[in-house]
Amino acid sequence: MHSVDRLTIPSQVGRWGLGRREVRVSKGRFHMGRSPCLVVSGDVCVDSTSRSMIIHSFFSFFAASPQLPRLWAEGIPPEDHRWITKTLFRMGAKGKVELQDNLKLWYYPPQPSPLYHQAPSPDRFFAHPLLMWMPYKLWKVKVVCPNTSCGGTQLTGAGLHKRARRVLDVDRIYTMVNETLTCAKCKASHVSWSQAVLQQLDLAHRSEFRVIMTQK
Ligand SMILES: [Zn+2]
Repeated sequence: MHSVDRLTIPSQVGRWGLGRREVRVSKGRFHMGRSPCLVVSGDVCVDSTSRSMIIHSFFSFFAASPQLPRLWAEGIPPEDHRWITKTLFRMGAKGKVELQDNLKLWYYPPQPSPLYHQAPSPDRFFAHPLLMWMPYKLWKVKVVCPNTSCGGTQLTGAGLHKRARRVLDVDRIYTMVNETLTCAKCKASHVSWSQAVLQQLDLAHRSEFRVIMTQK
């Protein structure tokens, strides 16, 4: 066996896992493009030309690469699925899909290259920006339950709102995804674009949300 270098950089695994459709796994062997990889052990892979390639937990990663939440996939244009999945999600330690750290309010899709040597995939020419309207997750804003009998119980994050929305701006279309906030006392939940949440934000944060919801 040739000597091998360990490449256990998570970002590299992510790039390969999501960015290369030609990777296939069959009967304990990996095939990347035309070069078959020999699996040495559960998390070790050496390619056939012996240029070393070891990827930590390669197998389990490909068995479960992140996917968009099901209802998000319905609301987000197909040309945006790939870059949004790659940008926002990762596989957690227990094989569960989770959000990346250090989330931002706006995400912009990768731009088309200035030059192509082969016919490009059309996705990059038609992709849309993403507004991540999750004030609690992003800024830890303090929002209390609007139910007066809850005595000002603070709402807490209850995860992603299941639907992604398409927003028609003056010069473009973008996608908006939201979170749900919940009251531990009355168990009511409030989506992050609801007036109950928006009205309590300080001006700086409130002014970041310029969407007028026409369909609820
Ligand atoms: Zn409440």
